[in-house]
Amino acid sequence: MDLITHRGGCHCGRVRFEVRAPARIHVNECNCSICSKTGYLHLVVPKERFTLLSGAEALTTYTFNTGRAKHLFCSVCGIKSFYIPRSHPDGVSVNARCLDEGTVEAMTVGQTDGRNWEKAYPAGRPSRA
Ligand SMILES: [Zn+2]
Repeated sequence: MDLITHRGGCHCGRVRFEVRAPARIHVNECNCSICSKTGYLHLVVPKERFTLLSGAEALTTYTFNTGRAKHLFCSVCGIKSFYIPRSHPDGVSVNARCLDEGTVEAMTVGQTDGRNWEKAYPAGRPSRA
């Protein structure tokens, strides 16, 4: 699997990042309480493949329920461009909607049943995300 560098960020441009991922990405749409409201598309990568370029000082952390997921959003424009997911506390979930145009060749979208987390993922995380 060849990895390329995608760039992305929040709406106001304070938060900018790079992520190493294939040119043809597989992302997940989740139906949980927070993802369904934001329309978040998850591109989950190991944390070594994510680099925050700027905007650390603008990020605000929101947590709820188990507190394991760290929902990070820009305190200026409100956009959640990446965060630390409950399913992969050792990884990063990038919002595929926040990637810059020009590097993603193709995108397929799968479904994650986050609304029924305990029932759907008794082992604590999806078998593949
Ligand atoms: Zn912003």
